[in-house]
Amino acid sequence: MLTYRALLDDAAHTLYESCDTPRIDAEVLLQHVLQQPLAWLIANGDTAATQDHSKRFYDLVAQRLSGQPIAYLLGYREFWTLNLTVNEHVLIPRPDTECLVEAALERLNKEEPSRLLDLGTGSGAIGLALAKEQPLAKVLAVDYSTDALAVAKANALSNHVSNIEFAQSDWFSNVDRHPGFHLIAANPPYVAEGDAHLEQGDLRFEPKMALSCGNNGLSDLTTIIESAKDYLLSHGSLLLEHGHEQFSDVERLLKDNGYRDIELYKDLNQLPRCTAAIWPG
Ligand code: GLN
Repeated sequence: MLTYRALLDDAAHTLYESCDTPRIDAEVLLQHVLQQPLAWLIANGDTAATQDHSKRFYDLVAQRLSGQPIAYLLGYREFWTLNLTVNEHVLIPRPDTECLVEAALERLNKEEPSRLLDLGTGSGAIGLALAKEQPLAKVLAVDYSTDALAVAKANALSNHVSNIEFAQSDWFSNVDRHPGFHLIAANPPYVAEGDAHLEQGDLRFEPKMALSCGNNGLSDLTTIIESAKDYLLSHGSLLLEHGHEQFSDVERLLKDNGYRDIELYKDLNQLPRCTAAIWPG
């Protein structure tokens, strides 16, 4: 019978070729099987692994070896102050998207009620973070995918967020124009179709619909920019996540559509990742 340390060494070796962080991945997967923190694993490294633990661990390692994202294997990902269930129907929330949440919060007043819209909510990451930080806000979170909405609704319950509603909608197709929103946020698909990144890492396993779109990754951003002005209150904000090379395209689209006060936000890697603008009304 192998010890827990031997299981880790073996798995780190197996994952060496296929993962950037083989040791960490092995540790995280074993912690998940054992439901124990890393400290337990270190303190009990010499203990013989049970057959059940060993089997479940090797099963996860085999899936990781084939490229399955860690977040899907664990079934959750932390985002902002939330613990979000994730599965193959939703994009895995990225730390980069927290810059959009921060930018949105800078524009909102906690003491005042507001109406917020999260387009293409996926796991619910943006909508839930905003709803939690703005207890007086009413958030509408929409997605085209009913499978994604099921995940987002479950996340609202498990994170005890109740000032949020969900609706199936193809961008604005099922959203009422009136009475209008103080802020609209979206992390839409923006990777160009056929981009080599889609064949690398986690992106291979994430829903294509949430990742990529036509016109070099700009078609959904364009649709949202063109439509959002009919749904924003006067002086409402539009916040969009985009690729780091898309800032000037997004800026041009916003200007051409009459938005003002265009502001760029950088992600954790100091790359342009989110643009905000005001609809003058
Ligand atoms: N940020 C994602 C990436 O890793 C893309 C997400 C999106 O298209 N909205 O490229």
